[in-house]
Amino acid sequence: MKILITGGAGFIGSHLAELCLERGDEVYIIDDLSTGSMDNIRFLMDDERYRNRLFVTIDTILNHEVMLELTGTCDWVFHLAAAVGVRLILEKPLESIRINIQGTEKVLELCNKFKKKVLIASTSEVYGKHLHAPLVETDNIIYGPSSKFRWSYAASKLMDEFTALAYHRTHDLKVVITRLFNTVGPRQTGAYGMVIPRFVTQALHNEPITVYGDGTQTRTFTYVKDVAAALVGLMEREEAVGQVFNVGGTQEISIGELARRIVAMTGSSSTIDFIPYEKAFGRDFEDMQRRVPSIEKIHRLIGYTPKTDLDEILRRVIADMHQKKG
Ligand code: UDP
Repeated sequence: MKILITGGAGFIGSHLAELCLERGDEVYIIDDLSTGSMDNIRFLMDDERYRNRLFVTIDTILNHEVMLELTGTCDWVFHLAAAVGVRLILEKPLESIRINIQGTEKVLELCNKFKKKVLIASTSEVYGKHLHAPLVETDNIIYGPSSKFRWSYAASKLMDEFTALAYHRTHDLKVVITRLFNTVGPRQTGAYGMVIPRFVTQALHNEPITVYGDGTQTRTFTYVKDVAAALVGLMEREEAVGQVFNVGGTQEISIGELARRIVAMTGSSSTIDFIPYEKAFGRDFEDMQRRVPSIEKIHRLIGYTPKTDLDEILRRVIADMHQKKG
């Protein structure tokens, strides 16, 4: 199978590329390295086994000619290229909206032209600020006002979902939509705000752990390799076409507790500092207080259950970052 991964040099994309290469697929990556990095895929490019099966293009998905060629070549497309991380969305709102909306439209247009099956990586952000759990794919969504730019990310990803579903309805394009819940693991960088790599880096340097707000907000983390396997599993099933699936973990944890656990597991002398949101992100910010997926739908279809529990995820991230620290 020939597989195109947009954003394949990113954190999730690189793990997905690795899985596809292990499966024996031919993998085509396109990445503009805006948040992705060659460091994420160099070990794959250097691997003799993959010498004639991995092709990397450094370019934007908005480049029509390049995407035309790549989409025409491949059998499946995993569309992961997007603006990532709350911090990036707040710092570069226009670029983020543009790449999410125009980029996805471009991918869908070309997939439709060649009738290629495509998976769109959406996000748990689309649910907005729910307090109930677990979140089911058919739940209503609740956003804050447009003055609070965090929601532009959710809205742009929701538009991506609508566009994909519209291509399915109008042109019978085979689309699969996944809402990813806080995916974590080795190679994720804290540079765009992601909490686990940030806390682990801070702990390994014995620096204060920066908990935003009062730390009672919760998240449910998923190991990136479990996510990559789920994405491939969904693409293999015809019943997934035209459907939206949560992909997430089952262990809800507060950010305050996460900080304490990381300090304990690293044996760090870090203190835990509580930083008001306003100081971390400016005035126009609001957080999501709770985010827990229902994974019933994906479990029913492909038997998905997360294999890696939170402590094991943390152990692996700590080991990876410890090694990189030298
Ligand atoms: N967070 C934090 N300190 C940090 C980075 C993040 O307390 O240094 C919090 C953030 O406010 C959110 C949670 O950790 O409540 C998860 O943040 P992340 O950016 O990883 O993902 P999100 O779920 O917000 O997309």
